[in-house]
Amino acid sequence: QTIGQNLKDTVKRFPDNDALVCVEQNYRSSYSEFYNQTTTVAKSLLAKGIAKGERVGIWSPNRSEWVLLQYATARVGIILVNINPSYRSSELEYVLNQSGIKILVSALSFRGSDYKQMVEEVAANCPTLTETIYLDKDWDSFLSLSHTISDETLAEAESTIQFDEPVNIQYTSGTTGFPKGVTLTHHNLLNNGYFIGVRLKYTDADRVCIPVPFYHCFGMVIGNLCCTSHGATMVVPSESFDPATTLKAVEKEKCTSLYGVPTMFIAELALPDFESYNLTSLRTGVMAGSPCPVEIMKQVQSKMYMKEVSICYGMTETSPVSIQTVIGAPLEKQVSTVGTVQDHLEIKIIDPETGHVVPKGQPGELCTRGYSVMLKYWNNPEATAVVLDDARWMHTGDIAVMDDEGYVNISGRIKDIIIRGGENISPREIEEFLYTHPHIEDVQVIGIPDAKYGEVIMAWVKAKKDSGLEEIHLLDFCKGKIAHYKVPKYWKFTADFPVTITGKVRKVEMREISIKELG
Ligand code: ATP
Ligand code: MG
Repeated sequence: QTIGQNLKDTVKRFPDNDALVCVEQNYRSSYSEFYNQTTTVAKSLLAKGIAKGERVGIWSPNRSEWVLLQYATARVGIILVNINPSYRSSELEYVLNQSGIKILVSALSFRGSDYKQMVEEVAANCPTLTETIYLDKDWDSFLSLSHTISDETLAEAESTIQFDEPVNIQYTSGTTGFPKGVTLTHHNLLNNGYFIGVRLKYTDADRVCIPVPFYHCFGMVIGNLCCTSHGATMVVPSESFDPATTLKAVEKEKCTSLYGVPTMFIAELALPDFESYNLTSLRTGVMAGSPCPVEIMKQVQSKMYMKEVSICYGMTETSPVSIQTVIGAPLEKQVSTVGTVQDHLEIKIIDPETGHVVPKGQPGELCTRGYSVMLKYWNNPEATAVVLDDARWMHTGDIAVMDDEGYVNISGRIKDIIIRGGENISPREIEEFLYTHPHIEDVQVIGIPDAKYGEVIMAWVKAKKDSGLEEIHLLDFCKGKIAHYKVPKYWKFTADFPVTITGKVRKVEMREISIKELG
């Protein structure tokens, strides 16, 4: 199926169910209303003369227009390019040119930064860009163009779309380096959204709170496509993440499912008035995007009623999810592993040097194969060849271990592994241990270059408010509980970590800052 055909099926089955609720924007539509609105947007795009395979960019925080454009472009085979809302002019210029965007749909401004000014600054350097449609300013007049396109013309455009054609370019988070334009098809995205929903046991009765950005696959696939392929409701609390607004939306819209990267759940649990929100409607949810601390998983289950919370592991290149918790798995597996391989996909764990599969229980590089693996990096065959081999295995760059029952643990990125005096140390393991300290709210561990050991360990600690936590307490805490070489040499107390807009901690930047500070 294509994304358009799948949406049409859902609309037929659940025409009156809520499709999309944007709380901050005060927007609400049923599936039949939502579908009609995507028809208007699709016709307006055709009226602008954009053809199948051409690129339209979207640069906006989470708003209803984002979702409408996602489905409208898919219906007529236009490739939507998701642009990260935290980009600034030079990154915007890079993406506009790299993917050859013809029309850009942009917010006027967001979080105090003037998008319009940035677009105007770079437009002259972007030869493919013919027009920018600003939300709040040009959107209504853009929609009025739909009248010039007949239902027959739209139907004809829709009839040419194939399930294995590209529909989306998503740039990776840029956690480790320069973002790459992942090119994904209907088949990639729709299947992934659908099967994630199967594991979450979604039905049309589910109302899913999506505070993660749409620009990222977490929002647009695990969020939107997962909901629309099951007839569930997409609930969007606000344009960008805020812990209190998110919990308010869960309460007001009686959400059954809540999403977030670990740092989002940590922020919600740490709200001073956390107890005052009624979260009893919650049943399930997804934690994903970076290592999910066992301690936080347990609190989400016990304090947020999300007994059936699921961890997803994935990457933009695999649409994104390839491994996911199975609801009903033994409790310990549910909180301490990322689950088992998603149905209809293959994974293997290899020694990156030899390419051979390692025995169960041993760490190696995780590789994924199947419907979810991207077509390519857009216009970048060299980068594609580095990660996609001839047998179509995607080499993830992450280290994984599989146990006898097939449960997988992600120890981290190959690039983040700390090698201290020849000893391979997973920062993840030390973070998990430190999370059990009652006064630690959040903690991240990195390797710092060292003349004697090659690398030594540093921990950045966000202490709980008024806890009076000091280095000496932490050293005491580690003593006798973890091997001496795993005890961080440097400790830094911080109020925040450098993060991407998805909320992922940028360890590259932490390392740069720390090296400078330590001289
Ligand atoms: P870039 O590739 O630009 O550096 P990125 O890898 O962070 O950025 P994404 O595609 O958003 O971009 O993220 C995929 C990565 O996130 C995975 O390769 C993995 O390292 C990490 N990740 C995702 N989910 C999990 C999880 N549940 N547990 C541990 N790590 C995860
Ligand atoms: Mg990556």
